[in-house]
Amino acid sequence: MDNKVFDKGQCIYCGQQRILGQDMGSQDAANKEATMTCNCEAGRKARRQAKECQIISGMFPELPEVTVDFLLQMADMIREEQLYSGTSVKVAPNVTAKFKLKDGSVVVTRSEKMEHQSSI
Ligand SMILES: [Zn+2]
Repeated sequence: MDNKVFDKGQCIYCGQQRILGQDMGSQDAANKEATMTCNCEAGRKARRQAKECQIISGMFPELPEVTVDFLLQMADMIREEQLYSGTSVKVAPNVTAKFKLKDGSVVVTRSEKMEHQSSI
């Protein structure tokens, strides 16, 4: 098979084969797509985490990946009530990430202290 088409992938969590309906270009990409569209619990969790990661990095674009990971971990702990709703972390001299639990979802707020000072 010279013209291999990567239109089938396997969920990395449950092993379920999924037909993707389009050529993903490589088996890795096809497996990733299969995982991201799988309905198993781990697949759904991975999808949720990928989405949360996107949201957090969008809200705090200046933060390195390790800090974004940390905030995601905090969001999980707040969702599981291992940390209290209302927890906040200072992620930059003037930037705070605030976490609130509302109806089972974690609400993240970027709070920026803006001070304008002039010497005249
Ligand atoms: Zn799966």
